[in-house]
Amino acid sequence: MQSVNKEKALVVFSGGQDSTTCLYWAKQRFREVWALTFSYGQKHSAEVECARRIAHQAQVHWDTMDISFISQLSRNALTDTTINMDERQPQGGLPNTFVPGRNLFFLSVAAVYARERGINHIVTGVSQTDYSGYPDCRDAFIKSLNVTLNEGMEEQFILHTPLMWIDKCETWALADQLGVLDLVRHETLTCYNGIQGDGCGHCPACHLRREGLDRYLALKSAGHTFTF
Ligand code: ZN
Repeated sequence: MQSVNKEKALVVFSGGQDSTTCLYWAKQRFREVWALTFSYGQKHSAEVECARRIAHQAQVHWDTMDISFISQLSRNALTDTTINMDERQPQGGLPNTFVPGRNLFFLSVAAVYARERGINHIVTGVSQTDYSGYPDCRDAFIKSLNVTLNEGMEEQFILHTPLMWIDKCETWALADQLGVLDLVRHETLTCYNGIQGDGCGHCPACHLRREGLDRYLALKSAGHTFTF
């Protein structure tokens, strides 16, 4: 385990499996942790309430920011109730759950928010391994944006992506190592249909989450150990 960093960190926090794991990852490493939750016109406002509750329980500073203009910029299945979600990524295209610019806006707003509070570490739960076809979850995008934010604000932000190269199974293992497996399993909301914990069981987010959990629990009971 790394020693606690004396600096502060801001976690981009949705209240889902990935960002909750990142929240506890940050708590283990930084003296002071902040969590910022975005409301962007997602169909399930339960997400914001769920995030508030988890942040309170984790005893971190929590705030929410309304950037719902992004739902007016494009049509996608996460913000438009008239579109049914793709069960999986269509061949040769992006899934209709992709919200163009989402991570660009999230991280840009987070950086300005962090700068105002003297925070230069920003943590996001994006993963290239399980990126569901979203280009703004890839490492190249994050590295490029990190340079852009630093250039644009004359700052030395460090974007941390603890989940970038691990899959859902390993993300469960990391949560377990951080001592929050049950909390992540029962308190978080990842489901596209807005159902907390194990979710609806049939949306793409539930499939990915369940498949990873089953694999992790099987490996754990077989005595497999994970190192991070
Ligand atoms: Zn679901």
